[in-house]
Amino acid sequence: MRRPRSPPYDKHMKAPCVLASRRPSHPDDEAHYETSSQYTGRVADEVEGQVIEESDELDAEAQARRQLALTQIRQYGDPVLRMTAREVTSFDEDLQRLVTRMKQLMHDARGVGLAATQTGILQRVFVFQEGEEDAIAVVNPVFSDLSNETEIDDEGCLSLQGITVPVERHLRLTLHGKDPEGNDLSIELEGHAARVAQHETDHLDGVLILDRTTDEAYKAALATLRPKPILASV
Ligand SMILES: [Zn+2]
Repeated sequence: MRRPRSPPYDKHMKAPCVLASRRPSHPDDEAHYETSSQYTGRVADEVEGQVIEESDELDAEAQARRQLALTQIRQYGDPVLRMTAREVTSFDEDLQRLVTRMKQLMHDARGVGLAATQTGILQRVFVFQEGEEDAIAVVNPVFSDLSNETEIDDEGCLSLQGITVPVERHLRLTLHGKDPEGNDLSIELEGHAARVAQHETDHLDGVLILDRTTDEAYKAALATLRPKPILASV
């Protein structure tokens, strides 16, 4: 049986939680990065053997925080990851709390992006890390000015632990939406940041990197992935 085709990218495309070909940044992490220059922040690097060594350099508390965060992020096999999130209409305290929690989870899990869907909340919100700045939260994201130029690179996902697969993404785009207070937001993104935004918006449409990779990589990933028990949130 063929898997469904990925939806086309258009201005309503909603998309990942990613992975990173560059390390996430957080002031508290500097100490780790100084001693782990190869750390990429890509969860799936664990299977490549890189992060296993790097993770050993994280202190026990950081390791525990990361594991706890991962138990609170929905994993492959959880049907919620295939559902479409709803537009946010209330920019209230619940939304602020959700965004705060997502930023913390993303940071603790060593990710550079996280969609609300991955926390079991079907609202169109994602957070991502761009460079050294504080994490950015985007509500009701849409894209415009998607470049014809694309790039293929490996992506991992906090909900698909242990794998990376090649995914083609637009190289440049403009991301529009609201901030958690309801103010308009518009950001031009390029390269890795544009990739993350596309990955996270995919999550909001129930689309995973498995849907956007080659048949060969898809089959190899499935051989690694198994539905994991869903651990209770704390
Ligand atoms: Zn993801």
